[in-house]
Amino acid sequence: MAVVGLIPVLPAYSAPDGVHLLVWCAHCRRYHRHRAPITSAPRLAHCAPDSASPYNCSGYKLLDAGPATPAVIRDAGFPHPR
Ligand SMILES: [Zn+2]
Repeated sequence: MAVVGLIPVLPAYSAPDGVHLLVWCAHCRRYHRHRAPITSAPRLAHCAPDSASPYNCSGYKLLDAGPATPAVIRDAGFPHPR
């Protein structure tokens, strides 16, 4: 995990719908979905509010990791394009 200042940077994969980004959260052990596009602004964490995830305090920035692979799409439970 790259860190810029105190805000972590997480890889974000582009979902096949062109709208969502799939971001693996090591604290929740699942993918969070965010809206494209990726900007330099920190995102609010999609971790459960009552979880111990440090992202709830820091938020995180997104780094373009390219198109989601079939494995990422499957693991994220994202619907496949028709
Ligand atoms: Zn999380």
